[in-house]
Amino acid sequence: MPTTPRPRLLVLSLGGTITMTQSAAGGIAPTLGAAELVAAVPGLAELAEIEARSPFRVGSASLTLENIVAVAAEIRAGFAQGADGAVVIQGTDTIEETAFALDLLVRDARPVVVVGAMRGPQQAGADGPANLLAAAIVATSAAARGLGTLVVMNDEVHAARFVRKAHTALTSAFVSDMAGPLGLVAEGGVRIFSRVAAPDLPVFADAAGSLPPVALIKIAMGDDGRLLRAVPGLGFAGLVIEGAGAGHVPGAIAAPVGEVAAQLPVVLASRTLAGPVFERTYGYPGSEIDLIGRGAIPAGLLTGVKARLLLALALAAGWERARLAGAFAAFG
Ligand code: ASP
Repeated sequence: MPTTPRPRLLVLSLGGTITMTQSAAGGIAPTLGAAELVAAVPGLAELAEIEARSPFRVGSASLTLENIVAVAAEIRAGFAQGADGAVVIQGTDTIEETAFALDLLVRDARPVVVVGAMRGPQQAGADGPANLLAAAIVATSAAARGLGTLVVMNDEVHAARFVRKAHTALTSAFVSDMAGPLGLVAEGGVRIFSRVAAPDLPVFADAAGSLPPVALIKIAMGDDGRLLRAVPGLGFAGLVIEGAGAGHVPGAIAAPVGEVAAQLPVVLASRTLAGPVFERTYGYPGSEIDLIGRGAIPAGLLTGVKARLLLALALAAGWERARLAGAFAAFG
């Protein structure tokens, strides 16, 4: 009896806890590569014909946007050669940033799924194998096509633009505050409950070389603006401010925000990490109306770390202020 061909899956490993074993120096450190991780998961080889590569072996805080641009190019090339889906394995600390950057850098109906683990492979209850199997199930499923880049953790399927690591330790660390997960993996299959539309943006596929540096500053009570004022002199090409609440800073530093915005693009996000930055409600010094009037661009629904990636890629593409504002409005 003829057998149906298995889907072709590209698996790229970048490091993270899922790859980490006990190191001689103490603590766990990245050692395993994609092929070893794939081989350790029962049922994975039957599910797909896998091409496994390991471009990086690092803790995910060491990944750069340039690294992710290279990973995106590898995925696009894999798709051009007929892969049906892609899984990116990495540390959970920056999974939300990698997923969002890939969403901007790869635009294809075929799923790209980013996955990691909260417990190392030598720990009791290691979640890596189950997460990797779930990621592969999603990446090879018809139901997940057209959803852009996804994060699969703890059997939940999250959209890149919403997902966030919200706990340092639990296997349930990932949340999508504003939408909830798009779906789940159960009984070896995927159920998708809701869908996200692709942002109305071109794919930033031409980004290359070193990207424009963008600073990210979280505003706290009594912030006197000295970090903010230093940003242009430090060679940054852009700045993201995580303001309080709906996008607010102390009144005393509203003028410095405007002075910086006159020199480089300043994007206003919220340190609450959920909900839109407001645009037309509060009118006191340091409020969102005041800051937008001074040139700040509202980040829409994007958190500061994601706004920073979009700003870097848009600046690399040579976008000017009006176009930048449109890019963030696409996530409003
Ligand atoms: N704690 C991290 C992880 O879950 C380490 C990292 O992000 O590389 O993988």
